[in-house]
Amino acid sequence: MSDKALILIVDDSPTNLQVLAACVKDDHRIKVATNGLQCLQIAQAEPKPDLILLDVEMPGMNGYEVCQKLKSSDDTADIPVIFVTGLLGDKDEEKGLLLGAVDYITKPIRPAIVIARVKTHITLKLQRDKLNKMAFFDQLTGLYNRHYLIDMATKKVARALRHKYNLWVLMIDIDHFKNINDTHGHPMGDEILKLVASTLVSDNRSEDIAARFGGEEFVVMFDPCDLKNALVKAERIRTKIEQLNPHGIGVTVSIGMAKLVAEDATFERLLKRADEALYAAKENGRNRIEMSS
Ligand code: GH3
Ligand code: MG
Ligand code: MG
Ligand code: MG
Repeated sequence: MSDKALILIVDDSPTNLQVLAACVKDDHRIKVATNGLQCLQIAQAEPKPDLILLDVEMPGMNGYEVCQKLKSSDDTADIPVIFVTGLLGDKDEEKGLLLGAVDYITKPIRPAIVIARVKTHITLKLQRDKLNKMAFFDQLTGLYNRHYLIDMATKKVARALRHKYNLWVLMIDIDHFKNINDTHGHPMGDEILKLVASTLVSDNRSEDIAARFGGEEFVVMFDPCDLKNALVKAERIRTKIEQLNPHGIGVTVSIGMAKLVAEDATFERLLKRADEALYAAKENGRNRIEMSS
């Protein structure tokens, strides 16, 4: 797949579509829509456009209404919109900007202006995507970070309680990791953290998530999963890590497991039970799994 940004051009006039497409087609991928409804459909589908060039005057839903709908849905609110319009008044421009558009281009279309404005807003959009990515992922291991985990897990817990299916949380902590650092050095410690992290995702399904919760602590969620499978998968994690033996260094983890029950109500409570089970696993000798009752 190309890594060129994707631009959605929306205009009821085929001539305008052609002129706009000619301006941006060399440096971008393009999709077109000839009415508002089609624009909304394309904007919701993956891959999402990085920018929408939106005509104001169209039969049926006009550009302002389309923009309002785009901005009011979580799915599409982040897509920058540039209005392209023959309406020249200040009031029209103000209206467009108040609806959340990032810019306003007037017809007749001047290619140099379109190219320049598109370039600016695509650059900003791609920078924002990059920052978002950095905000969600742990830099050392590439796993989700604690912030993302809490966001995601809160949604998963609400969904699992509503639909009454089984959700499991595992709190995983590397055993005697301080000794590993002290004996083999911090860089080796980092390498082992990365290795353990990649083991946690190696046979994850897409519904399951693995996150670095802090230092040498990780959280894995199985969503949904019955008791038997949860135990099998947790045990697989424990044995896989035990077998890593990187550079001959013994690495093991202790795991605390908890299944979501209605009384938990929140992810924090569920996590607390997993943490208590982890504490028990440490107390009972490490390199083992304990389950919250
Ligand atoms: P236990 O079996 O009870 O969990 O013992 P432990 O030594 O693993 O636990 P402790 O909490 O005493 O030590 C955790 C260590 O993890 C201390 C800290 O220096 C180390 N650590 C935390 N984050 C990082 C990191 O990013 N890189 C490295 N190399 N070490 C880290
Ligand atoms: Mg029009
Ligand atoms: Mg710890
Ligand atoms: Mg530890």
